[in-house]
Amino acid sequence: THDIHIVGGGLAGSEAAWQLAEAGLTVRLSEMRGGGGGTPAHETDRLAEMVCSNSFRSDDADNNAVGLLHQEMRRLGSLIMRTADAHRVPAGSALAVDRDLFAGAVTEAIAAHPNVTVVRESVDALPDGPAIIATGPLTGSALAEAIAVETGRDALAFFDAIAPIVHGDSIDMDVCWKAARWDKGGADYINCPLDKDQYNAFVEALRSGEKTAFKDWERDTPYFEGCMPIEVMADRGLETLRYGPMKGVGLDNPRTGRWPYACVQLRQDNAHGTLWNIVGFQTKLKHAEQVRIFRTIPGLEKAEFARLGGIHRNSFIRSPELLDGELRLKSRPNIRFAGQITGCEGYVESAAIGLVAARFAAAELRGEALAPPPPETALGALLGHITGGAVAETFQPMNVNFGLMPPLGERFRKADRKKAYTDRARAAFDRWLAPVAAAAA
Ligand code: FAD
Repeated sequence: THDIHIVGGGLAGSEAAWQLAEAGLTVRLSEMRGGGGGTPAHETDRLAEMVCSNSFRSDDADNNAVGLLHQEMRRLGSLIMRTADAHRVPAGSALAVDRDLFAGAVTEAIAAHPNVTVVRESVDALPDGPAIIATGPLTGSALAEAIAVETGRDALAFFDAIAPIVHGDSIDMDVCWKAARWDKGGADYINCPLDKDQYNAFVEALRSGEKTAFKDWERDTPYFEGCMPIEVMADRGLETLRYGPMKGVGLDNPRTGRWPYACVQLRQDNAHGTLWNIVGFQTKLKHAEQVRIFRTIPGLEKAEFARLGGIHRNSFIRSPELLDGELRLKSRPNIRFAGQITGCEGYVESAAIGLVAARFAAAELRGEALAPPPPETALGALLGHITGGAVAETFQPMNVNFGLMPPLGERFRKADRKKAYTDRARAAFDRWLAPVAAAAA
């Protein structure tokens, strides 16, 4: 028997296994690939296989939130980061790797660790625990079913339907205004008014914009419903959006005293109020097309996007409601979740949440206390978002970004803000890490 059972040997599960093993705990790591199982996206039986791009994105720890997360993970002895650094390929300021050497080296490091037993098997029910579920965006269907039974069906999604998310301070409030339709329920939405010509041009842009195709295995998935892309609505008729997510009725524009011909609404996306999602704008438009087309919306001409829209097969749970601050399932606290299934997005974020889940689990198994990383750090901001900072009802997978951190108190010039975030984060990380490092020594 082992101290802990980790299910899923992807980016998150591999990092978690390493962290626990290094903390002196014994781990059973179950991975279905190589044991008769597989996903539509993975091609090998290696641990930590990168299913698409070979990039861990920006490595700039001074000006980029994901670069900062790299740095924090390195300081916590991340196997994923150490292996990525060792198998780096030239990619400017980004950290890209040779994916075969990378996954091969992670697989070898874990197999060689005396505290880890890798078992090639599909796990089809929730384990008794202690356990970490890190089965990713393409979680096996039997286990997904078991999770849905435990969490309630509405709390497990099989597709994301991501509307673009805008940094609040990049919205032009001289054009937009805050109000709810029919003035009901407070001034909760930011409204962007369009006149007839602007609306018609916008619908045409959506129709002709370049789209990403669904993969066959995505189209064949029966769970796909309730997330129609905005461009599909635009294709149904010129008026469809004006009677759907772009309705202008009931929205008095204080500058004209009238309802706009059409209106785009943004809804607050996090407790800090720094991020706003464009309501109903899930889309398969290519990223560059989204930026081009959505910046034609009055008030969003200078919009900075915290993330762009998308729709993919993606199993994830409604973490802000289901998990506590240490990633434990509230209804069964001996089970933690980690990786993309928690609603973080991306290789780096998934590995980071695997890392912190393992740190919490190790502390608990050893009867120690571990304070969560502070919200000013990249790791703390991401963790805080998925375990409570995000609005649960509209929760969608999220990359790490500065909008997840508490807003900067003092005024900084735009050019200095990124550095101000990362300087503040490093100071907070140092303060948090000092007792953690002392306890480990
Ligand atoms: P995974 O890495 O998927 O690991 C989960 C593991 O669990 C898998 O090895 C799987 O075989 C195993 N497993 C599942 N169910 C069971 C079970 N019941 N029993 C045992 N084992 C099981 N992110 C990026 O940053 N860049 C990209 O370019 C990118 N492209 C993507 C393309 C596709 C098609 C998909 C689906 C995702 C993409 N992602 C990308 C997101 C990417 O999957 C995650 O960032 C990352 O791999 C998630 O890490 P994870 O550990 O949570 O899941």
